[in-house]
Order: sequence, then structure tokens, then C-alpha cells
Amino acid sequence: MNLFAQSAHELLDQIRSRAISPEDIDDSVRGRIAAVDGRIKAYVRLRDREKNSASLQGNGSFKVPIAIKDNICVKGEETTCSSKILQGFKPPYSATVISKLQEKGAIVIGQTNMDEFAFGSSTENSAFGPSRNPWNTDCVPGGSSGGSAAAVAAHEAIWALGSDTGGSIRQPASFCGIVGLKPTYGRVSRYGLIAFASSLDQIGPLTKDVTDCALLLNLIAGHDEMDSTSANVAVPDYTQFLTNDVKGLKIGIPKEYFIEGLDAPVRQAVNEAVEEFKKAGATVKEVSLPHTEYAVATYYIVATAEASSNLARFDGIQYGLREQPKTVRKTPIIDLYEETRDRGFGWEAKRRIMLGTYSLSSGYYDAYYLRGQKVRTLIKQDFDEAFQEFDTVLTPTSPTTAFRIGEKAADPLSMYLSDIYTISANLAGIPAISIPCGFSRERLPIGLQLLAKPFAEDMLLRLAFAYEQRTPWHKESVPL
Ligand code: GLN
Repeated sequence: MNLFAQSAHELLDQIRSRAISPEDIDDSVRGRIAAVDGRIKAYVRLRDREKNSASLQGNGSFKVPIAIKDNICVKGEETTCSSKILQGFKPPYSATVISKLQEKGAIVIGQTNMDEFAFGSSTENSAFGPSRNPWNTDCVPGGSSGGSAAAVAAHEAIWALGSDTGGSIRQPASFCGIVGLKPTYGRVSRYGLIAFASSLDQIGPLTKDVTDCALLLNLIAGHDEMDSTSANVAVPDYTQFLTNDVKGLKIGIPKEYFIEGLDAPVRQAVNEAVEEFKKAGATVKEVSLPHTEYAVATYYIVATAEASSNLARFDGIQYGLREQPKTVRKTPIIDLYEETRDRGFGWEAKRRIMLGTYSLSSGYYDAYYLRGQKVRTLIKQDFDEAFQEFDTVLTPTSPTTAFRIGEKAADPLSMYLSDIYTISANLAGIPAISIPCGFSRERLPIGLQLLAKPFAEDMLLRLAFAYEQRTPWHKESVPL
């Protein structure tokens, strides 16, 4: 099999036995990018091979190419959140996850396309234009980490990092037929992740299989004094939980998730997965998460409020783009702010800045933001209660398979509603994984989501691995 088509753990075994060299893998992946990225547009930037020479020659033991979402700072490399407003911005430091990976020898091969500032579910809101789904290039790869998911699925990277604020790792993983994990809030350092909504954002792995997911989580998890919200909780070796044993584990199926709007093929694939877990010895029972119906509204209040304050820093002075109108309108400095923000931000960013500023403004704060925070607590309590009885909650990742490019672009509300199954995990701060569980008749991948209590990534990986061992989905290859 071509090197580019293999998983990281398979390649690392061959490096260890000296059957291949890290340079062989790098050549193979770069050749693949040259062959297919014109059709997929997963990358916004490739990194020169010379810049990786320290990693290639060092004694790290994870020398495989990794793709990085364009909102995770790589020192000295342009990092733009796929926004015009950050054009030319080269961060003076690397994100903690990048330093950790590079210490272990990882090869940062390039940065991947995303919805501008991670606002979206399709990667269509990018200043660079959309990425495409490797299973059907008329369809979106999902978003906002669509470039990372497409790169892994199309074998243009061995694995990738994304970020997830309301589903941006799990939904593209599901649309592209790969594994995506959103860790517990605080499990992975956010230092150097350009903030969207600071109380929801987490960095996590996008990989070809569950073993790679465990390995990559091992590399990036852990306490970081540079991020005051990172948790001081010991990091186990996550690969030790890949035991293929789920006997006696308790799975809850939330009745609020199996509703109208859930596509029939997705429902069927998820039901079949439930049967598979039963056969493997897990017990399955219905559970109720009564506040689910408020999740989308709550998320779009909290997330836009935080986004509007985080984006205030992009003013034309400190970072990236700087635009000065030709004639004075107010004062030179106000004009510069306004012109830069008007030209630099796309429509979705502007919409979110306005929504967030509104719900934080005096007179509306109590009615929207404060109430949103209270409902957030109720959503978290639903999960706390469920995890008293259950080891995991099992749901579809998305109500549909990948939709067509342009299908929802003109209707922000229908785009927002497609996040219905993923956003609660961010509001509650709990870990959640998406794994492939089948295909639609059009051969588009379907994803299954598992959720667990805080810091129970081990439980998610254990369940996901056992399911993967029993099913063929992760082995199917893209028609490219
Ligand atoms: N699709 C959601 C949004 O548009 C989630 C995005 C994300 O997780 N970054 O906000």
C-alpha cells in the first residue's frame, strides 16, 4: 500500500523497524498533495521541507507529517484563520500543541483551510474559497475544520489537528469518514489557538483510526501553565484502553436526539451500530437529556458573545491587514479601524460580531447572555445526571451526511441547526468522539458520536476501538 494511505501507527512501526525512513513518508504525502489537492483544496499553505529538517534529523519518535488547522499558531509561519484580516500575520511563538508535537519529531507539513475564525459547518466561509469532500467533490467536507478532515480522508496528511467550539472536529470527521475527538475542556492547552469562544474551544485530533486518535491525544494532552484554563489532571497512556472489551458497559440513547430532521440512512446506520455494541456485550437503554431543545439557541448566544469580544483585537494595528480609507471620514484612527474591519472580515464574522455585541449590550445582557449561561448550566446538569447511570451517551454526529456546496450557504439558520448534536458537548465541557459507522446510498460517510463524563477520553477510545474492530468502515477508501 502507498505510504500516504497508511495510518500513523502503521508507519511508525515501519520507521522503528527501519523498513522506511521519515523522508520516504514525507515524499509520499507531498506527492499525493501535488496529485489531488487541486481538486480538494484542503491546504491553504504548505511548509517547506527544509523548515522541518530539525524534526526530520532529531531523535523524536513521531516523524510523520501532520496537517494543522489555520488557527493554531506555528511560529514564523503565516497563520490566518482563513481570514483576510490576518493576511501576513506571522505569530512570534508556536501554540503549546505545536511545540509538544515538534519535540516528539512531528513534521508540520502545512496549514489547512477552515471557515473564517471557525465560524461555520462547511468550510465555505473561508477567504480562500471552499474545500471539497474527498468522497464527492460537489459536497462540503464539513467545518469548520474541513481542510484538516479532507486532508486526512484524501490521504494528503497522515493525521491532523483541528479545533472544536461547537462540533468543528466531529462534524467534518463524520462527513469525511474519519475519527475526530473533542477532548474535555481543559484537557489540551489552548495557548496559541486563536480564540473563537474561549469557554468552548478545544484542540483535538483528526485521524484515520482510533489507535491514531489515542496516540495523537497522548502527544497533545496535559497541563500547561501558559493556559490558565488547562486542567492539572494526569494524562494516562491512552493506547492502554484499546482493549476490545466493552462487556458490561452502559450506553444511554438520548430520546431527544432521534427526532424529525434526522435523515433515515443516518438513523439506520446508528441503530445498527447500537446492535453491534449489544452484540459486543454492552447494555443499552434510553436516557433523557431534557434541555437539548435549548442547546442551539444557548450556543449561538454564548459563542457569538465570546466571539465578538475576542475579535475586537483585530483592529488594523496589532495584527495582519491594515487599510486606511483615502479620505478622512471620522478621525484617522477610527477610519483605520473601520476600513480594516470592513474589508478584512467576511459576512459570517460580521454577523457574529453583531449578534454577540447585541446580546452583551446593556439592557439585553440579562435577557440573553445571562439567561444563556443559566441554560448552559442546565444542559451540563442533564449530562451529569446521565453519567451517574451510563458510561457513555451515543448519538448521531450530524443529522445528515455531507450536503452540497452552496446548499445552505444562503441560509445561516439552517446551517446553525445542523450543529444540533455536537454543541451540547462544548456547552457541558465534556469529551466526545465521532467515528465512521456506515455510508449512505450515495456513498457519503455517516458518523456516530459517543460522549462521556469529563476526562473520560479513555472510555470513549475504548468503546470506539471495540466498534472499529468489528466494522469495516475505516478501511474503505476514497474515490480519488
Ligand atoms: N458550526 C459551529 C459554528 O458555526 C461550530 C464551529 C466550531 O466548532 N468552531 O459555530
